[in-house]
Amino acid sequence: MKVTEYFEQAKDQTLISFEVLPPLKGGRMQDIFAALDPLMEFKPPFIDVTYHREEFIYKKRKSGYYEKTAIRKRPGTVGICASIMHRYGVDAVPHLICGGFTTEDTENALIDLNFLNVDNVLALRGDARKFEGKFIPEEGGHEFALDLIKQVTDMNTGKYLDANIDNGAATNFCIGIAGYPEKHFESPNLELDLAYTKAKIDAGANYIVTQMFFDNKKYFEYVDACRAIGINVPIVPGLKPLTKKYQLNSIPRLFHIDMPDDLVKAMTVANTPEARQEVGIEWCIAQSKELKAAGVPCLHYYTMGDSSIIRRIAEAVY
Ligand code: FAD
Repeated sequence: MKVTEYFEQAKDQTLISFEVLPPLKGGRMQDIFAALDPLMEFKPPFIDVTYHREEFIYKKRKSGYYEKTAIRKRPGTVGICASIMHRYGVDAVPHLICGGFTTEDTENALIDLNFLNVDNVLALRGDARKFEGKFIPEEGGHEFALDLIKQVTDMNTGKYLDANIDNGAATNFCIGIAGYPEKHFESPNLELDLAYTKAKIDAGANYIVTQMFFDNKKYFEYVDACRAIGINVPIVPGLKPLTKKYQLNSIPRLFHIDMPDDLVKAMTVANTPEARQEVGIEWCIAQSKELKAAGVPCLHYYTMGDSSIIRRIAEAVY
């Protein structure tokens, strides 16, 4: 079933959903189940599975020279989605990125997903590879999420890349996209970022999941700004609890978001790792309760493999 159909069915109720990362190569599917099993009692209708582009490493050869080798550290998104759907009977939402994919690769991935009865995708550009500094698309691939969305909507009308395919089987994907209450870091300003977000909705995207934020005001202002320019799709807040002091710096650096002063102060005053974790959990519970009271369609938690903390938050909120 489509994510947006769950929202329609739930009417004014706030649903819950989770995002998981594929394990590092060599990891086990069991690790994903171990993370999700304790969360299933909260009845998430869908679970997101991230996608990770290959990275390059340098391997030293006997000759002493280094060889550049591409590795995908976290493979398995499609298989994990199928496993989740099979084990729990819920929908899985694979993240689909432009980076590392030619349009042909994308088409084939969409065919696989369609054959596996996956009804949803979160369509993203993907981040730059660490050593490249800026996003470089694959040759013959998409530069922006907008182009990826257009490809998915084409397939939803039975239009494949090969013009010789006449009357191809139409897919029926519901398309989610990313939204940035504190703007995407590459965008010169929020207005332009929102204009591109609107272009993605106009091209056929059906709902938005936001980047994490720690100040609900940013989310509410973002929703208002979206509505003001005619973005009327559901906007799902993405939430992550702070659990460690170093995240006060690493999260702003990695995700380009601000930390509210009160949270920073409380984390700084707390003087043990346990006390700091409590601060982060209580903050996330308070954020969640306020968002739920405001009637958001769904609370989407970035689990980062730590279900015990997310479970505590969900218990307090649902
Ligand atoms: P785009 O929409 O393409 O936007 C990228 C930048 O270009 C923005 O600054 C935008 O304003 C601008 N822009 C957009 N369209 C155009 C256009 N047509 N012309 C000119 N400029 C334009 N990354 C992963 O690698 N794997 C994941 O699984 C993953 N999951 C995520 C889930 C969520 C909920 C979020 C919020 C992010 C996720 N990301 C993931 C990170 C995401 O890939 C990065 O934030 C990436 O830098 C931007 O992706 P996007 O889809 O927003 O890009």
